[in-house]
Amino acid sequence: MSQPFTISLDSLMQPLDFDAMREAATSGGCASSSCGSSAKPDDMDEATWDKIKDHPCYSEEAHHYFARMHVAVAPACNIQCNYCNRKYDCANESRPGVVSEKLTPDQAKRKVIAVANEVPQLSVLGIAGPGDACYDWKKTQATFSEISREIPDIKLCISTNGLALPDHVDALAAMNVDHVTITINMVDPEIGAKIYPWIYFNKRRYTGLEAATILHQRQMLGLEMLTARGILTKINSVMIPGINDEHLIEVNRWVKERGAFLHNIMPLISDPGHGTHYGLTGQRGPTAMELKALQDRLDGGAKLMRHCRQCRADAVGLLGEDRGQEFTLDLLPEEVVYDASKRAAYREIVAEERGDHVRAKEQAVAAVRRNSGDGHAILVAIATKGGGRVNEHFGHAREFQVYEASAKGVQFVGHRRVDAYCMDGFGEDATLDGVIAALEGVTHVLCAKIGDCPKDMLVAAGIEATDAYAYEYAETAISALYAAATAAGGDEKAVA
Ligand code: SF4
Ligand code: SF4
Repeated sequence: MSQPFTISLDSLMQPLDFDAMREAATSGGCASSSCGSSAKPDDMDEATWDKIKDHPCYSEEAHHYFARMHVAVAPACNIQCNYCNRKYDCANESRPGVVSEKLTPDQAKRKVIAVANEVPQLSVLGIAGPGDACYDWKKTQATFSEISREIPDIKLCISTNGLALPDHVDALAAMNVDHVTITINMVDPEIGAKIYPWIYFNKRRYTGLEAATILHQRQMLGLEMLTARGILTKINSVMIPGINDEHLIEVNRWVKERGAFLHNIMPLISDPGHGTHYGLTGQRGPTAMELKALQDRLDGGAKLMRHCRQCRADAVGLLGEDRGQEFTLDLLPEEVVYDASKRAAYREIVAEERGDHVRAKEQAVAAVRRNSGDGHAILVAIATKGGGRVNEHFGHAREFQVYEASAKGVQFVGHRRVDAYCMDGFGEDATLDGVIAALEGVTHVLCAKIGDCPKDMLVAAGIEATDAYAYEYAETAISALYAAATAAGGDEKAVA
């Protein structure tokens, strides 16, 4: 096992005492002289790495350390998706059923500065609606120009359905927006007609096949224009069983050919209570294992994002946590002045931690590959507060990060959202049943602490749980677990 780094990421998640943290970082925990070394993958050029290295959505590794926030400044939309109810926010980037506080560009600026002063992990500002960021363009543009003047190093992102995108690609490039998400659910308008009942384009409403054809052409044009300008594009696709699930293999091929940087397959969230067409007509979303099976089939195509949390439209914080309610308008001071010092200090510390994490991960991946003689695989759920470490109590976890260990090494394959099992020191059996159901397919759970009762119930459900690897990096812990399983005869459950 690697030596635990003395500056735990737990400390990075608490109010920050920078002097103590820096002292800890240099007082022997990190033995190697290569502390602070770059985590850049060998197959990536420096310019691309520079764009993604602190972006929690574009870099799976960065999502352990850096935070994003969405500001809801763009309420108007120019299409209708069958998974959307306009009472809520744009479901292409946000969780349906959640309504955010709509902001003017000035209010957004005040909020972003207040968050940057309090959340040093903040690296990205996104506009994901609550309608379409390109259709409601004037507000998007005004917000970005105000904020980038105040916080020049913050990364700017938009997400869009793509219909109005080609009209604004040059302006996006001029504003240094180098991350754009387009939701592309189809490349065949016949399938598109089952997802989009209408669009509004060039002052006219189109329906059916004609609408889907125009949308498809505009999405492809927008993607090609972004690629030509070196802007990184993430494609979101909503997986809708029986409608576009098989078709997403074709979508993946098309977007890869047109230069997409990442493809994020998101499960349809469909609930009659959300009042969407799909919710009201009984269209189901995929199970976690159906989503994983599709993602596995796409291995080798456009690179997949597997760590998307389908955040709230006013989400603030690390992916998987939401501090948005700490920064509602009524809680913000009237006057806020940006203080760059906390974010700068945090980055220094994270650079050191990341160098250590990368080395530990490389060792762990190599060990798993060496031990994978009989080709067995395990699916491991980690309870974590961040930093890529096993550092959360089982009962407090609101999500588990899931990794697969196999002949390919150790790969992050997704997350499972749950209700925390333990409230005020007591565990609820009914909640535990929900946690176990959410862990479908998982063979092991690693956490910082777990009681006998939940442990026994997990074992009864065929899942082994342990706190023996508390505070280790996820990959290091999984590698040790995998070696133990191999030594025990490799009789672990095969992962479907
Ligand atoms: S683009 Fe977003 S806001 Fe517009 S209809 Fe679709 S999900 Fe709703
Ligand atoms: S919805 Fe997904 S892509 Fe968007 S900010 Fe959240 S994690 Fe990132």
